[in-house]
Amino acid sequence: MPNPLYDALFAALARRETPLLLLQDGREISGVVFHAQIARYAHALHSLGVRPGDRVAVQIAKSPEALAIYAATVSMGAIFLPLNPAYTAAELGYFIGNATPKVFLCDPAKSASLQPIATTYAVHLRTLGGNADGSFPDLAALQSDDFTPTDCAPGDLAAILYTSGTTGRSKGAMLTHDNLLYNAQALAQVWQFTAADTLLHALPIFHTHGLFVASNVSLLTGGKMIFLPGFDAETVIRLLPKATVMMGVPTFYTRLLDTLGLSQAAQHMRVFISGSAPLLAETHVAFEAQTGHRILERYGMTETNMNTSNPYDGERRAGTVGLALPGVELRLIAHGAEVAAGEVGVIEVRGPNVFKGYWQMPEKTAEELSADGWFLTGDLATRDADGYITIVGRAKDLIITGGFNVYPKELELLLDEVPGVMESAVIGLPHPDFGEAVFAVLAPRKGATLDPAAVLAQVAQNLARFKQPKAAVVVSDLPRNTMGKVQKNLLRAEYAGWFKK
Ligand code: AMP
Repeated sequence: MPNPLYDALFAALARRETPLLLLQDGREISGVVFHAQIARYAHALHSLGVRPGDRVAVQIAKSPEALAIYAATVSMGAIFLPLNPAYTAAELGYFIGNATPKVFLCDPAKSASLQPIATTYAVHLRTLGGNADGSFPDLAALQSDDFTPTDCAPGDLAAILYTSGTTGRSKGAMLTHDNLLYNAQALAQVWQFTAADTLLHALPIFHTHGLFVASNVSLLTGGKMIFLPGFDAETVIRLLPKATVMMGVPTFYTRLLDTLGLSQAAQHMRVFISGSAPLLAETHVAFEAQTGHRILERYGMTETNMNTSNPYDGERRAGTVGLALPGVELRLIAHGAEVAAGEVGVIEVRGPNVFKGYWQMPEKTAEELSADGWFLTGDLATRDADGYITIVGRAKDLIITGGFNVYPKELELLLDEVPGVMESAVIGLPHPDFGEAVFAVLAPRKGATLDPAAVLAQVAQNLARFKQPKAAVVVSDLPRNTMGKVQKNLLRAEYAGWFKK
């Protein structure tokens, strides 16, 4: 019996003498060396008691070793559970208690503070540092390179990824071998990846984007990765000449636009891909002006992997997330029915990409995943006559003011066009008369000074009265999480009292 992910992503590495990973300091790691590490790590995890179906939780720095832990875990039929290094001990207590992993790997510096959690939940705590230091590599060094993967079925779990949990508690999204494999195959096909590609990988690998979209697609197609510990614009520009493809969140691209040498470094590239948060149409246009490349934007989420992508050969439309991927059914629903072209509806998706449900939360699963397989994404969008999807915001960010719906994206696009405005976030705040009132948070361009009232006056002429923001503030930067998403929940909390009497 096979192991679907091991067979597709890692098996061939055992015979690959050529480089798989190129590191920031110039070191290269061949497929053979990486495969031997997978083997030793799998034996080390086994010696700690990990068996098929067990969870292996990691909160470690991005490194080749961290990628090898992922590979080792799925190869032995266990379930990989990566956690954002930013989580505190209190937050980790929740994740470890909910997922009850057999092993928890953490940074050596955090081991003492996490030991009480490990003791409470009877988890083996081992350490793995960013420089391959720690008690886990020491244990792995004693193991053999001989390796036989563990058989598992396509529907078996390969990973649990916790959602970012901006509303309520984080939920563990259960992803199967098949979910991940199907999505990597679809993306590789749509984006025309081959073994000749070198992917510049500066994304974190505790999230679906860096772990699955980036790493899996490259591993599946036999290419190389320039595997960086994080994003630094100068380093990326220095290394771009060695790459053919880059994947990033929108903030990577805005930062690259502000860095010298981009146009020269980007010339030979095959494609730049963006996702995880909306790419401003303005960034798309500026990037094309500087580099000649039209950024290819795609859309997905932890629970569904990727759902849509702009075409590689066809028209990449700025401000849209493109077309449904092959095999993914996508519909837009409002008031219980599919909307007409151009109308706003909540995106629902069905297909081999859609997860199996939330770990140990059957009620939450039932709320968002219907019995016939449709997942309610909570993203609002329109679809044009050609099938291109445009995201207009999250359903929970929809503002209902005096009984009227206001879609923040429509206003944000107008505000962003006002001279001096770099970007904006439009939110609804509690209001004694209107229920919610429209409120704008503005971030100025470098060196610009903004008068909130003057900005609002400029957009007012193009907007029905109920949509016009009732107030605005200027901040130096919008709050974002590590994936570049604007954290509107923080803004709503900060300004909650603005309209209260
Ligand atoms: P996560 O589960 O952390 O990957 O977050 C998924 C959410 O990110 C989606 O539900 C969307 O709201 C948002 N998202 C992802 N890609 C895009 C995109 N290209 N444009 C706009 N929003 C996006």
